[in-house]
Amino acid sequence: MELREIERLDGEYIAETYSRYPVAFTGGKNATLYGADGKEYIDFGSGIAVNSFGVNDEEWKRAVIAQLNRIQHVSNYYYAEPQSRLAEMLCERTGAKRVFFGNSGAEANECAMKAARKYSFDRYGEGRAKIVSLKGSFHGRTLFTLTATGQDAFHRYFGPFVPGVGYAEPNMESIRKEADETACAVIIEPIQGESGVNPLDRQFVRELEAFCKERDILLIADEVQTGNGRTGKLYAYEHYGIAPDIVTTAKGLAGGLPIGACLFFEKTEHALGAGDHGSTFGGNPVSCAGAVNILSRITDELLLEVQAKGEYLAAKLKSLPGVKRVTGMGLMIGVETEKNAKEVAKKCLEKGLLVLTAHDKVRLLPPLTVTKGEMDEGLNLLSEVLKA
Ligand SMILES: *Cc1c(COP(=O)(O)O)cnc(C)c1O
Repeated sequence: MELREIERLDGEYIAETYSRYPVAFTGGKNATLYGADGKEYIDFGSGIAVNSFGVNDEEWKRAVIAQLNRIQHVSNYYYAEPQSRLAEMLCERTGAKRVFFGNSGAEANECAMKAARKYSFDRYGEGRAKIVSLKGSFHGRTLFTLTATGQDAFHRYFGPFVPGVGYAEPNMESIRKEADETACAVIIEPIQGESGVNPLDRQFVRELEAFCKERDILLIADEVQTGNGRTGKLYAYEHYGIAPDIVTTAKGLAGGLPIGACLFFEKTEHALGAGDHGSTFGGNPVSCAGAVNILSRITDELLLEVQAKGEYLAAKLKSLPGVKRVTGMGLMIGVETEKNAKEVAKKCLEKGLLVLTAHDKVRLLPPLTVTKGEMDEGLNLLSEVLKA
């Protein structure tokens, strides 16, 4: 189908929640995508950090197709090997004790916040259900996760919001005020993605961890975007040397299939019991088979490569005309440009480069497998746009 016809159908039948760039993709290889317009595009977005190993990865496809040839869905009334294996891998790699699977980042965070309330209820009874999130955070689009999203722009139209959520600035003074005796958890993104790829301050995160431990307030790390090798560690909390009580992840975990995971560590292992939570599609065997393949290939060697690629890109980006600042870690990069970020993204697309934006920054999230050739081609195109 031609782009024009797809655009017509979309305009007529799809809910009007997305403003799209005028391109449709028909295929590709690694970080090079083919458009319905016959053009090639360098992909520095990975479908928002989802296609961890790019597109059309042979080994990943084999693992997914092998599972499709067995069985595509199993109700959580029964057992299925890929789900159990993936949970074992996640626990062995992180030290987590148990995993709950959903289908998205929002669901992973929803699960984490429900579990935090339950943990607190079991120990302290009612009146200690407050979730404290940080200003500038993004945690999802369900009503609870939207409430926990610390950006006013998201808090229109949909009220009343979920009670028992507070917002703190990313400093201890503000945390001490918000995380009072009614708080059961603090939720953080180690690197705030949607609001501009801003890593939290190391000292702050460490003090926050100690503060939470002392008061038995759970620390939840939202690693929906930062997880699964994106920042050069398996999970970004490792950069901070902290031990969260709950870690959530999603986007890149299954390499392009829908999945969300909520990892419970020692304290929270038994927070949720039979009947407390559930999901029809959660832990789908095809998604889990994809994730087992991805996770088994995020080796220490690959993580070092991600770090090296991130350093290479950051160094090159800093030398481009009109670049004011480069933030982020590994292959999660924010670029502050003199030109308007949305304009830059539009012009990049016209030249054949896909970049994302985050607040006022250009955001780069290339596949972990992006090649030197693809990086250089993308940098050249970005340079042309910034120079023009
Ligand atoms: C994308 C994202 C979410 C929401 O994930 P969905 O899969 O869209 O529900 C939550 N938290 C963070 C940090 C994210 O980047």
